[in-house]
Amino acid sequence: MIGTRAELEHIIPFGEVALKKPLPSNGGERPFRVQETEQKGLGMFATRVIKAGELVLAERPTVLSPRDSLGNKYFAPLEPAFYDAALAALSEGARAAFMTLVDRCSLGKRAHPLAGRIMTNGFTAGNLLGEDAEDNPQDVVFAATYLLISRANHDCIPNAHYHWHRARWCGQLHATRDIAAGEEITVKYTTLTTHAERQAFFQKQYSCSCLCRTCLDASPEDVRRSDERREAVVQLLCRLENALDPSAYPLLQDSEERAVRRTLECARREGMMFQYANILHQGSRIMQMQDSPLVAFDWLKEARRAYAMILGEDSIGVVQVDDIGQYLVDRMRARGMQCSWP
Ligand SMILES: [Zn+2]
Repeated sequence: MIGTRAELEHIIPFGEVALKKPLPSNGGERPFRVQETEQKGLGMFATRVIKAGELVLAERPTVLSPRDSLGNKYFAPLEPAFYDAALAALSEGARAAFMTLVDRCSLGKRAHPLAGRIMTNGFTAGNLLGEDAEDNPQDVVFAATYLLISRANHDCIPNAHYHWHRARWCGQLHATRDIAAGEEITVKYTTLTTHAERQAFFQKQYSCSCLCRTCLDASPEDVRRSDERREAVVQLLCRLENALDPSAYPLLQDSEERAVRRTLECARREGMMFQYANILHQGSRIMQMQDSPLVAFDWLKEARRAYAMILGEDSIGVVQVDDIGQYLVDRMRARGMQCSWP
């Protein structure tokens, strides 16, 4: 683990509690193996059908480092002493395994062997300090580098979702749709909206263009339509999140409700499942304010299914939605409506 003394003193007591909790498991053998891809080095491939929502893998990071260490290929974000300390702290086996991760962000001859590997393979790791830190502007956000999760390659329409599970102190991959045996398991390295923005990101970060299936197969017309769908999703979510007076938001109008449905379909097509869940969650909040409890309830239930699929049943997303769902049920029963949650 790499960090300033103050950061580490904050994290370690919490980490020790979380580390006592077992890693979530999908019960059986790992449903994937790591093998060569055609153009992208190693990748993760399903060894059997993996159902939508299934936990592909939960893994503790091998190296945790400040998020700044994700950096880019033009500067070495940390002093060599930080990297030396991290390498020295690993067991011999872990060190050897870690060094087999690819380095696509080489910083030149003077670079430390760890720096480019963290930049190439690191994922974000939320804040590590517990529930109360959610609203804390001093949130410590880390980069987590894994021996297995880091093997998952990017796809602009991925079939799996990565997230940091704070309470269990691990990274998790969930399938966001059914994955066939033999299919590559992919995640998203960037949430940039347009194809051009993502290509620029890949050039800057990895000195190559995006080699994902979606990009390789896309015609210019496909790209234009995909950009439009993604823009629509981002704009709607932004409007819903910033609806300062939700009761004045025009969702009750039929046409607006249908527009939300169409945009949800865009999000699904583009593999934007987190945004899909968020739109339903925020839309439900607004429908509640507009005294339309049945629609609010339906959307919230759908948001719950989406959160559970991409984040797991015990995630904060599901817990938050459950609290609101229970509240809605109480209100609806008080008005004589029959309903149950979830
Ligand atoms: Zn791509």
